[in-house]
Amino acid sequence: MNMIEANDIKMIDFKIVDINGQYRHVTIPVQQFSADTLTSGIGFDASNYGYAVVEKSDMVFIPDLDTAIVDPFCEIPTLSVTGNAMVIDYPENRPLDQYPRNIVQAAERYMKETGVADTMLILPEFEFHLFDSVGWAVQPNSISMSLDVSQAPWNSAVEGKGCVIPHQKAYHVAKPFDRTYECRSEMCLEMEKAGIPIKYHHPEVGASGQFEIEPMLGEMSKMADATMMIKYIIHNTALKYGKTATLMPKPVYGEAGNGMHVHMLLLKNGEPVFSDDNGYSHLSRTAHYFIGGLLKHISSLCAITNPSTNSFKRLVPGFEAPVTVGYATSNRSAVIRIPAYAKKPTMRRFELRNPDATCNPYLCYAAILMAGLDGIKNQIDPHENGWGPYDVNLYSLSDEEKSKLQALPTSLDAALDALEADHDYLTAGGVFPEQLLQNFISIKRQECLELSAIPHPAEFARYYNL
Ligand code: GLU
Ligand code: MG
Ligand code: MG
Repeated sequence: MNMIEANDIKMIDFKIVDINGQYRHVTIPVQQFSADTLTSGIGFDASNYGYAVVEKSDMVFIPDLDTAIVDPFCEIPTLSVTGNAMVIDYPENRPLDQYPRNIVQAAERYMKETGVADTMLILPEFEFHLFDSVGWAVQPNSISMSLDVSQAPWNSAVEGKGCVIPHQKAYHVAKPFDRTYECRSEMCLEMEKAGIPIKYHHPEVGASGQFEIEPMLGEMSKMADATMMIKYIIHNTALKYGKTATLMPKPVYGEAGNGMHVHMLLLKNGEPVFSDDNGYSHLSRTAHYFIGGLLKHISSLCAITNPSTNSFKRLVPGFEAPVTVGYATSNRSAVIRIPAYAKKPTMRRFELRNPDATCNPYLCYAAILMAGLDGIKNQIDPHENGWGPYDVNLYSLSDEEKSKLQALPTSLDAALDALEADHDYLTAGGVFPEQLLQNFISIKRQECLELSAIPHPAEFARYYNL
């Protein structure tokens, strides 16, 4: 009520998440907002959100006031809240167990029950492109265009002034090369205002306009909410600057793709569970078992952390994206990298490099935690399983050496096959409902089928004149 008064709020906006991890919203005038809204919620039809609705599709959305912020993109003063979904029942409504925010909270509860830890801290990294228009990267001649960086919109306006950035050489470039500094700074200021502390932002490697924003480490379920808000701010701020932002994994052929690496560590009573002065890269046995769980289930996990057909166009050699199932210190070609700079015991951690921002962040983070907990429970040692440590560049191994390594799935279909065969680690403790997984798999299978039937611009380049 204080926020409403202080900001002269006229509308309350409820941001609800669909199965694909996209915000949808429904808005009420402020005078309709009362204590009753917090318990009775706002009705919505969950079948339109992609959830398998076995009983009835009428659900209610219960706002979580801790998530309230003033929406910076609405001209009419609007308070924005997210929250949880409930199934209407008598006498009491009950949580919609398929709702992603409920799942991430269930995963945290399960973690506490195991006694391993009470907190999981994560830091997702957001890589994205800013383009002048959406059409650019999908023109039929995009293949040659994307390799000729002088054609990139980022550079074209300063062409002739010696400001063209060579292919794949945009990492940390300063002004005048960096032409979207104000836009990204504003993004970060909006994130801070929304209660998301920011570590930094910078130009990334891709010379076609690739950038990165990283928040500070935060509690997993809060970071899932923050992930939604960060993406919302990136997209909407870009529009304000006459740009369009995309976090899609591989918008430009032949250039670095956009990852959403996830750093992670566990705490118990405030003490770091992953730290050991004498362990490999100062990580504890428990951390190694967690890594073992991630690597054991990685193919299945990819269906949730990389759930688009485009995801697998990023997971190719040569662009700092992971291709190999393994772990290493400071090596970007393995799927798990232990950063050498994380020396403080409370900061000792590793990053999972395969995820990308086409995932539903709630499901992504919950699945990562469940795979790691399975590794701890079953003491899955990554070294004994032949997953490393690989402190060599995995892209430059000989064919014979490469043939001994386990590769990540190369298509969404392959990842879905893996998820179908391996998902007991997700349903453990009732965290992921079987119904949700089956529904997710069938939606994604349909997506694969549809996209494989669409003539691709690259097919024009190859076949048009045959
Ligand atoms: N863009 C790379 C990827 O696709 C990552 C680069 C980095 O390590 O920051 O994952
Ligand atoms: Mg990066
Ligand atoms: Mg990283």
